[in-house]
Amino acid sequence: MSSRLVYLETFGCQMNELDSELVAGQLHALGYRFTTSADDAHVVLYNTCSVREHAEQKVWSRLGELAQRKASEPNLVVGVLGCLAERDGVDLVKRMPVVDVLVGPGELDKLPNLLDNALRTRESLSADPAPEDPNARKGLTSAREIALQGGSSRRSTTLAAAADSLELLDLSRSVSPLDPSDQPSKSAYVRITRGCNKFCTYCVVPFTRGAEIHRPPQHIIDECKMLADRGVIEITLLGQTVNHYRFEHAAAVTVGGITQPQKGRSFTGGHRRDPFAGEQTTTFADLLARIHDEVPAIQRLRFVTSYPRDFGDDVLEVIRDHPRICRYLHVPAQSGSDRILKLMNRGYTVSEYLEFVDRVRHFLHQPEIARPVGISSDFIIGFPTETDEDFEATASLIRRARFKNSFIFKYSPRPGTVAFDKLEDDVPDNVKRDRNTKLLALQNEVSDQVAREYVGHTLRVFVEGPSKKHQSQTRAREQQTHHHNHSHHGTVSLTVSARPTPADDAACQSACSTAAISPEPTRDHAEPSTIQYCARSDTDMIVFFDAPSPQAGAPDLTHTFAEVHIDRVRALSLFGTRHP
Ligand code: SAM
Ligand code: SF4
Repeated sequence: MSSRLVYLETFGCQMNELDSELVAGQLHALGYRFTTSADDAHVVLYNTCSVREHAEQKVWSRLGELAQRKASEPNLVVGVLGCLAERDGVDLVKRMPVVDVLVGPGELDKLPNLLDNALRTRESLSADPAPEDPNARKGLTSAREIALQGGSSRRSTTLAAAADSLELLDLSRSVSPLDPSDQPSKSAYVRITRGCNKFCTYCVVPFTRGAEIHRPPQHIIDECKMLADRGVIEITLLGQTVNHYRFEHAAAVTVGGITQPQKGRSFTGGHRRDPFAGEQTTTFADLLARIHDEVPAIQRLRFVTSYPRDFGDDVLEVIRDHPRICRYLHVPAQSGSDRILKLMNRGYTVSEYLEFVDRVRHFLHQPEIARPVGISSDFIIGFPTETDEDFEATASLIRRARFKNSFIFKYSPRPGTVAFDKLEDDVPDNVKRDRNTKLLALQNEVSDQVAREYVGHTLRVFVEGPSKKHQSQTRAREQQTHHHNHSHHGTVSLTVSARPTPADDAACQSACSTAAISPEPTRDHAEPSTIQYCARSDTDMIVFFDAPSPQAGAPDLTHTFAEVHIDRVRALSLFGTRHP
């Protein structure tokens, strides 16, 4: 058991973050312990992303470093989890023989067994190395532990008829908290759908995460209740196309007493209300209303990511009528050119997207109480054949839709996708970079205008914790007084790059995580009796404010709500004064 110290690093989206949390919870319950230092670990796991090449390259370079280490540390076990494992399969092991364990995102429930096998194999090999096995001499074993879906998840188009073992991983959260000794988080992700049926031509997700699967509503609600009982007050529901959520109770299948998730029907689109709504169905609108009403301890309910074509008035009405559901929608448009949208297989036109944006504002905009609706988008620039005219159309969509922020990605050709096979990546990199910079500047301008509309209003914000500025000042003080603390006990390292920081992708013009925010410049003479907090409005605006420090005897405001009067805007963030 002493050789079961795990380092787990996560790349990619919120879905991967949640997967890592669930995997860590399972391993923790089995006696594994975690470290934030890969060098100390006996087991190094990377939970990977393959949406863009950039995220993959980081994993390849980490694996390259581990290959050198393994030459002198043959008992080290290396595992690659997630989308890269699923996409490359055994080719990944051929390229990187250092990898012992390979588990796709649809098979993560099998990780504990595979890891156990790998560790036992290492232990028996080190006790009795087989001299004739050249891999063993190099510190490598020829036995590998592999669990991949290999496209099997798409074999059946009927509703689920067999036990869905991955559901058990989600359900396991209720019995195996990550580490009860840790400070419990007040924010949590809850998965409502897995996979995707959309097949946008550039995107690898339908291949790596499989068909769209919808979890039974009662499982989701029970999970929210369990999290609320543990002190969580903010929940983000996760799915690739969350608004496609629908559970048909008449078709529910139960295996071993557990209701099974269902494969999603294809959404035909264009409807304003779910055509299957009724007593026998839980629609996305029903699910939001049920969580809101049945789990009142959840103060903020968010969901990502929404698909623009199938967003019904029924959902907008529920958001409007339920105060604890956030007025924030992340609804990627991807392009402002109808020709490119068609090549992307997005299934909507620019005017349909704009009609949707107008509808959202019609239902949810309340500027008189500084409760406008926050809408954000993703854009891919430099998609094959994109002309200056197409690019201008995207710029004009940003101006017209007035997104609070957008995430802009340079097109990255992904093996296995239709665009990779059929369309040449013909926009030169310097043109992509130039368009990226221009769009970023434009979105910054729009974001700044949107932010300025809050000045003079009072917002109710959820305090996430001390700002980066405050944290770096504290660290500097600690270093000066030689009190630097290296406690790494029981934590899981998360390197999350779903939302790239400017340094990461030169793409993100606003921030959806505090890590990407630039707080006000540090003043050397900062008053230690005050603390700068970072908070968030329900429209997803980042708000900074000062308050008396807990070190000076004031209450810690972290994970509480505060009323903040907004005084000014800087670097797309709001700065204000807290009402006592
Ligand atoms: N399901 C969400 C939707 O459709 O809006 C998005 C999920 S995807 C993992 C996150 C974002 O990555 C997409 O919105 C898209 O902008 C970007 N993306 C996906 N594939 C890409 C590619 N091949 N190159 C560049 N960006 C990509
Ligand atoms: Fe990828 Fe499109 Fe599915 Fe989003 S909707 S995950 S972009 S295929």
